[in-house]
Amino acid sequence: MQKINVKPGAKLVDYKAYGSLYSSVLDFTEQAKEPIESLKGQTIWMINSTAIGGGVAEMLPSQMRILRELGVSIEWLVIEAKKDAFFDLTKRIHNAIHGSGNGVFTEDDRKVYEEVNRNNLAKALELINDGDIVAVHDPQPMPLAAMIKKEKNVSIIWRCHIGLEEDTEVTDAVWKFLEPYTNDYDHFVFSLPSYVPKPLKNKTSIIPPAIDPLSHKNRELQLHKCIGILYQSGILDDHKAILYHRYEHLVRKVMPDGSFDVLDSGQDLDLIYRPIVTEISRWDRLKGFKELMEAFIKMKLDNRKYGDPKSLEYKRIEMTLLVMGGPDPAFVSDDPEGKEVLQELTETYKKVDSSMQNDIAILLLPLDNPKQNALIVNALQRTSSIIVQNSIQEGFGLTATEAMWKRKPVLVSNAAGLKFQVVHNKTGQINPDPTDIESLSKTLAYMLNHPKERDKWGFNGQLRVIQNFTLFSQLLSWLETLSKNKA
Ligand code: UDP
Repeated sequence: MQKINVKPGAKLVDYKAYGSLYSSVLDFTEQAKEPIESLKGQTIWMINSTAIGGGVAEMLPSQMRILRELGVSIEWLVIEAKKDAFFDLTKRIHNAIHGSGNGVFTEDDRKVYEEVNRNNLAKALELINDGDIVAVHDPQPMPLAAMIKKEKNVSIIWRCHIGLEEDTEVTDAVWKFLEPYTNDYDHFVFSLPSYVPKPLKNKTSIIPPAIDPLSHKNRELQLHKCIGILYQSGILDDHKAILYHRYEHLVRKVMPDGSFDVLDSGQDLDLIYRPIVTEISRWDRLKGFKELMEAFIKMKLDNRKYGDPKSLEYKRIEMTLLVMGGPDPAFVSDDPEGKEVLQELTETYKKVDSSMQNDIAILLLPLDNPKQNALIVNALQRTSSIIVQNSIQEGFGLTATEAMWKRKPVLVSNAAGLKFQVVHNKTGQINPDPTDIESLSKTLAYMLNHPKERDKWGFNGQLRVIQNFTLFSQLLSWLETLSKNKA
């Protein structure tokens, strides 16, 4: 068991400096007073299984800094587990909560599960006091809090970051396996109402995942900074000719005196800034990259076949570039699927007549190490006209929230999480079937050719994120949940 030292970082006042966030930060500080007061004298212990990588480890430090600034006592513990068999089992549990795998869990599995958790118990008991609140994230440390509760008068909460909309034999089996622990828990937190298994329904709060507006991935970046980052990272480079020209054009026009007079030139912006459609995700088949590429190619070919070359609509589609980015498989050793998916995408692209490939304008971008590519992702999202998340399955798509925060219109599939995040016709478009190439291609063309709608959806999207999906809305829900479930 390791206690994680959270380094100093952004303070409330830094968030208040963001015009668009100002009032929501004020509201938060006001509304947080009462639950914070009621938590005085108690320490909140967040427990998970890793200090680096993954959404929990990414968000916890920002959350803890803000809560500490407001006087909450909160600590972060990471369990130690040296056994491969343990992670093998917890991965199976994770997959089963998503509905995949064979749903078989044995008494030997239980032994491994409990042994690793029990090895962390003594240290936990040294640190945690009667009256404290223990919040456990995801399945790995689940038995630990139940063990702590047998020794101390604490309240225990389980935060589940995953889920499947409908119950299946596999999900039923995994919840059965976890029942001896869930029975001991006082409360549960899930990301969406539809993810809550029936027996836990009346002991559960819903807290959707959120973003930190000041993280490297989300903080404000002016256009010239985005361009600089894309240059430095080699994305705007020789072999990436299309983006290079686009930005060479922009750099010449915008950079020298820092002015944006190009905006007043009366020209159609899309024809100056070549529209970019972007999807950034792990190279996973469930992210719908291949379908998006096929739809994009169809849109371009249909435009050439049926469009009027003199029309603005035709030119806009002709100029549009598709960027598909994800972590370079060379850096992600635990993801063998990534390489295959990239290969499949290259093959799909190669099927396009080679004389037309350049004009089809698709860029496959294996980005840097995911831990280091946050600024690149930020710059890419900000220079895009539309952000797509064409997932075939998605618990909750952080990329859509990140895009909306950046005032980008989003085109998403109707996967469970995404249709909760995006409001159709208000913050973007929800395409009912991510594998329906025809409708995806039409929706994309529609969005491209309705720039005013795009602007409107972008603005609405940012508002929706401020109201529902930032660090502050999330912290408020946490504080309310914690204060209602004190020991
Ligand atoms: N991401 C990233 N670099 C990449 C690909 C993805 O930083 O090369 C980030 C992305 O911006 C988002 C997260 O990884 O914050 C992915 O979360 P999401 O909920 O969209 O999907 P998941 O990977 O959890 O299925």
